[in-house]
Amino acid sequence: NTLFSSRKLDDWKAYLGWQLINVAAANLSKDLVDANYGFYGAYLNGSKEMKPRATRCAESADNLMGEAVGKKYVEKYFPPAAKARMVELVKNLLLAMHETIDGLDWMSPETKKHALEKLATFKPKIGYPDKWRDYSKLKIGRASNWANVRSGLEFGIADNLASIGKPVDRERWGMTPATSDASYNPQLNDITFPAGILQPPAFSAEASDPVNYGAIGVVIGHEISHGFDDQGAQYDAQGNLKNWWTPEDYKKFQARTACVARQFDNYFVEPGLHHNGQLVLGESIADLAGAKLAYLALQISRRGKPALTEIDGFSPDRQFFIAWGQFRGDEIRPELARRMIQGDPHAIAKFRVIGPLSNLVAFQTAFGCSDTSPMVRPIAERCEVW
Ligand SMILES: [Zn+2]
Repeated sequence: NTLFSSRKLDDWKAYLGWQLINVAAANLSKDLVDANYGFYGAYLNGSKEMKPRATRCAESADNLMGEAVGKKYVEKYFPPAAKARMVELVKNLLLAMHETIDGLDWMSPETKKHALEKLATFKPKIGYPDKWRDYSKLKIGRASNWANVRSGLEFGIADNLASIGKPVDRERWGMTPATSDASYNPQLNDITFPAGILQPPAFSAEASDPVNYGAIGVVIGHEISHGFDDQGAQYDAQGNLKNWWTPEDYKKFQARTACVARQFDNYFVEPGLHHNGQLVLGESIADLAGAKLAYLALQISRRGKPALTEIDGFSPDRQFFIAWGQFRGDEIRPELARRMIQGDPHAIAKFRVIGPLSNLVAFQTAFGCSDTSPMVRPIAERCEVW
């Protein structure tokens, strides 16, 4: 309201006009598409070429009518056997978190009780929603791309507004089924793994257990741990804003996390430019927790069963850790690395692989590394939060 009277009308016109063009640019004529890419793609991210038109169209359809696209996507790429395997993985990761919380020597019984209550009400969403969104009111045609995009945006806004004043729909999905990502939502206390991420190298219905636990298993553990970190601590089992940690326990938790902040403060992407440990703290705690929980979940899954065997000369533990590297590792341009250092709560992929694993004894043992190996942190500096 202050800005409405303090800024000139012409400023508002320019600002709102720019907002409109900015939203629309990627869907308009070639000169605007190119200008949009020139800034967001080439300048900000160092990208060398625009994605092919077909890819951009598919992404646009996924953004605007994601559950219609998603229904087709899961028919083709996410068979019931894959879902059953994921349900089992999530179950064992939740068990691993239960055993871990139970066994913590630094957390009081009072906080543990609330933590376990919260864990028991976690709602996993796997692959696709049980109830699909109804797109019958969405008008699309073959005449104009921008008209379709605009229609899709309007549909999305109307769909959101329609939920106001109604009971919370806990079946509703925030991500589309074809999305290659995962999330924890503190207000719904749910964890979501869309079908789009449930493919190699994150997951395969044909892969060995160590490979699946080492890749998607770590992601599952990562999302679960968000329910208990500095963000998740503020929300109770029903998703209400209510901190359930005792102040003493929360202090102990923070003292343990300080180790992780120090670790990432010392990761450089180029001379003179290093991660800000505080900025990437939550995500880096989640990666460390995820790796530990997934490793424990793999052991839980083997109880009462014969020991796993080598594959192509790789022990089960090596399969587990290599899978994390193959899934999480990537290569990015220096421009993107610099931008991530400034504002991304995730560390760059290289450190999301080395960071958590270099704290784990199981990793050191699996590869027979000495205490002074470059990928093993000195014993006195190893971090353990959960
Ligand atoms: Zn995260």
